[in-house]
Amino acid sequence: MSLPGPDAPAGAPFAAAFRLPMAVRFRGVDVREGVLIEGPAGWGEFSPFWDYDTWRAVPWLYAAREAAFSGWPPPVRDSVPVNATVPAVGPERAQQLVGAAGCTTVKVKVAEPGQGLDADVERVAAVRDALGPAGKVRVDANGAWNAEEAVQRIRALDIAAGGLEYVEQPCPTIDELASVRRRVHVPIAADESVRMSDDPLRVVRAEAADIVVLKVAPMGGVASCLIVAEQVGVPVVVSSALETSVGLAAGVALAAALPELPYACGLGTARLLAGDLASEPLLAVDGQIAVRRVSPDRDLLTASSLDEEGRLRWAERLARVEADA
Ligand SMILES: [Mg+2]
Repeated sequence: MSLPGPDAPAGAPFAAAFRLPMAVRFRGVDVREGVLIEGPAGWGEFSPFWDYDTWRAVPWLYAAREAAFSGWPPPVRDSVPVNATVPAVGPERAQQLVGAAGCTTVKVKVAEPGQGLDADVERVAAVRDALGPAGKVRVDANGAWNAEEAVQRIRALDIAAGGLEYVEQPCPTIDELASVRRRVHVPIAADESVRMSDDPLRVVRAEAADIVVLKVAPMGGVASCLIVAEQVGVPVVVSSALETSVGLAAGVALAAALPELPYACGLGTARLLAGDLASEPLLAVDGQIAVRRVSPDRDLLTASSLDEEGRLRWAERLARVEADA
């Protein structure tokens, strides 16, 4: 079995595999691939990273099916504030990215393998410089530090940033997060500790986080994220999983449906891709993304379609995940 190719007749494809290069290498990824699924409610995106095994890809399928077949809860706002994201680039490139994004909140990736604290301090200081004193700077370490390193580095980065809004996942374990949280005044956000856990509430019960990051695809859809958001009892930040605008629309729908949204969301990531599948991508204007459904553009989908080998690879993966779902 393969997925339909670009030569399939109009109206025939219910699913289409795509491949889009990243504009900047991010989380070790140079290219995004996935499958778009069309259903009566609209289009959904199934694009688990290739380092995710079948079991971890199952929630991504639930999220894609929800988008295509059930739809999302009604929004309570018509736009959502988003942050710009600065990958582990040099200070000049970081300033260009901040200038181009037009957001007043910026998330800076730190603790990239092979880079030291100096590179992080330079990047964070450059971002503050480009943003001005009124903007907000947050950092994400993706669990790279032990507790001792985290305390020292958060203090150094807090000074370089002229005050950090929060630090996301400084350490891998919940015990370390709790220990760091007691020793620094910068708020701690939990990301991997929530979405990789079979119990997303454990991090909050352990008093290890001030903020919780929710991602729709790895957590099985908008409705299940809303349940978690209701239960955690701390503010949530909605972030993307580097989806195309079709997948990002689900994150925007979650952010739009939350009763409270005190922080800018990590949904302004369409710019990290070198292309998109929608003729009007979900890009921020003045730091806000408008709440709407997104359908792919047929020509863009054709231009981004995978070759026969790639379509077969995704058809097989989809079948494996469907068998586990
Ligand atoms: Mg993160």
